[in-house]
Amino acid sequence: MAELSKKLAYFTDSVIRRMTRIANQHGAVNLSQGFPDFDPPQELKEALVKVATGSIHQYAVTWGAPNFRAALAKKQSKFMGFEINPDTQIAVTCGSTEAMIAAMLTVCNPGDKVIVFSPFYENYTADTILSGASPIYVHLKPPYYHFDIQELEDAFKQNPKALILCNPSNPSGKVYTREELLIIAGFAIKYDTFVITDEVYEHIVYEPHHHTYIASLPGMAERTISCSSLSKTYSITGWRLGYVIAPPNIIDGVRKVHDFLTVGAASPLQEAAITALNFEDDYYSRLKETYTEKKDFFLKGLDQLGLKYSNPQGAYYVMVDISEFGAPNDVEFCEWLAAEVGVAAVPGSSFFQEEIHHLIRFHFAKNKDTLAQALKALEHLRPMAKAKVWIS
Ligand code: GLN
Repeated sequence: MAELSKKLAYFTDSVIRRMTRIANQHGAVNLSQGFPDFDPPQELKEALVKVATGSIHQYAVTWGAPNFRAALAKKQSKFMGFEINPDTQIAVTCGSTEAMIAAMLTVCNPGDKVIVFSPFYENYTADTILSGASPIYVHLKPPYYHFDIQELEDAFKQNPKALILCNPSNPSGKVYTREELLIIAGFAIKYDTFVITDEVYEHIVYEPHHHTYIASLPGMAERTISCSSLSKTYSITGWRLGYVIAPPNIIDGVRKVHDFLTVGAASPLQEAAITALNFEDDYYSRLKETYTEKKDFFLKGLDQLGLKYSNPQGAYYVMVDISEFGAPNDVEFCEWLAAEVGVAAVPGSSFFQEEIHHLIRFHFAKNKDTLAQALKALEHLRPMAKAKVWIS
């Protein structure tokens, strides 16, 4: 038999999605894979019904339907603080997942290096390897997830092609301050490096923190490839609508790669989603309030259970410290937690390059009842963990 690609040996299947399968198998409350269990706005669902009975069922323009791009450019120009040309600066993709791999394939040659902050969202390692590059990790140290400026500059000195920036950050909940972003931007300019962002949680940020788009900083628009999606902002993770925003010379490349990866995002869904892109500002303030309530409710529950965690500044994840339970590692702990306690989380080690095995990630993008059910089940965690004999 011919050999399969060597690249496969360098990354595993998604641990996040594996945990969802384990949760389903045991009927556990699934706080592992981050997606809402509540509906998108009613107007958006109605728009989809209307589109379904209409005539948009064939391919859109490969890099995005013109009216979708126009609505997206208008919304993003307002939030990002600079003018985005819908005809030359946008490529619409199948989720931010495709946006990022298309961006990576556009900038990387085999053998290139890419800076990745650890902990990282698991796609970044796979994206780096699939595009023939290799990662240089820069560590964000728990529990505060600050980076060391010297370590970052040392990484830049290795002549990387790009840096991947997840802001607000999955899994740590870190929201990079303007000062931190200015440091990263300064190095990106000094060492002539692209910045590829993942900003899918751009509208889920908790007071007093504030999201700054690195593309909006001086000198950065020309070298930033901003990737994001509609999934988290409008609770439509299944619609798979994402996009890349970048200068025309880069977007030309992204559009070319995207055309051969997927041809295009679903045209009826683009048409329906225009309704969401046209929402007024109050939609985004309500979204923030809703997630603040969910975070406060869930963290209060964790406090009552006496669990230690890092307070998220944005996104909808919380990293919880499991050191006290004496488990041999976070993977076995999470499997046991889903099977016996009835709550699924993601083992923290799947996000870290370093050997860190005392953290697990919960997400709280769930109805209050679901979160309450998870907290109720977690009341049994400490007594059950005490009685548990770990064999390995
Ligand atoms: N971003 C979500 C998470 O980290 C899920 C993404 C996915 O499974 N595509 O859990």
